[in-house]
Amino acid sequence: MAQAVLVVADAAVEADMADGSVPHVIAVKDLVKTFVVGDHQVKALRGINLDVPRGEFLTVTGASGSGKSTFMHIIGCLDRPTSGNYFLDGQDVSTMSKNELAGVRNKKIGFVFQGFNLLSRTTALDNVELPMLYGGTTMKTAERHKRAKDMLAAVGLGDRITHYPNQLSGGQQQRVAIARALINNPSILLADEPTGNLDSRTSIEVMGLFQRLNEERHITVILITHESDIAEYGTRTAAFRDGKVLSDKIVTKRRAAAEELANLPDAAEAV
Ligand code: ADP
Ligand code: MG
Repeated sequence: MAQAVLVVADAAVEADMADGSVPHVIAVKDLVKTFVVGDHQVKALRGINLDVPRGEFLTVTGASGSGKSTFMHIIGCLDRPTSGNYFLDGQDVSTMSKNELAGVRNKKIGFVFQGFNLLSRTTALDNVELPMLYGGTTMKTAERHKRAKDMLAAVGLGDRITHYPNQLSGGQQQRVAIARALINNPSILLADEPTGNLDSRTSIEVMGLFQRLNEERHITVILITHESDIAEYGTRTAAFRDGKVLSDKIVTKRRAAAEELANLPDAAEAV
């Protein structure tokens, strides 16, 4: 079943290429980011070139300080490059104003972070609804609730909607964060070390969720990790070093989280 869906995703990508319409959802050219701190400069990105076709699951690895988060911030329209170009769906966003960037970001991009970044005094449901409110939706309250509930159910938390973050496990909190990232129907999901605070079984479960979203909803995923085994859940992996792309290759022996979970002994259930 999962394999059949995967073929459809590949076919969609090929169709994109064949008819000449935007083959890359993300195209980055000579991207440079230099931070000025006091009287010295930190060269976080020193000329990144990367193209990401729609439907790809790209993992980005590299040691701490190699520029991974800086790259994600620019890709996610949270920050602008010092020089170079960034084309998102064929549109050059590297020169957009902050307001324009915010608009693109709300519409196209969902974020997931290592520390979940949920509002602690707010239920799972309200956390998931938040981006709809920020997006200035005209949706009625009941409709908003329904969408958020459906999204929580889609990540396996239909029975936890009134829980607060401190009443949820780490894996459950990350699922809430993923539901929140998905609520505005983004075409790109960006995740910065999303399994960094999770144990190994929970990490596989969360990676399984990313794989499912990528395969079934054709969401382009870019996931940062410093763990090489987590990188193998992607379709392609790029390694950063000192603000440059050191290597960029297709994952030949891709890990399949759903299969791995089925073969794990039944430890403590719910994550
Ligand atoms: P990674 O995510 O791979 O650990 P980062 O992208 O966070 O790396 O950082 C790359 C380099 O840029 C580091 O040397 C870091 O200290 C520096 N850096 C990141 N953000 C800032 C900032 N806002 N101001 C100054 N230096 C920064
Ligand atoms: Mg980082």
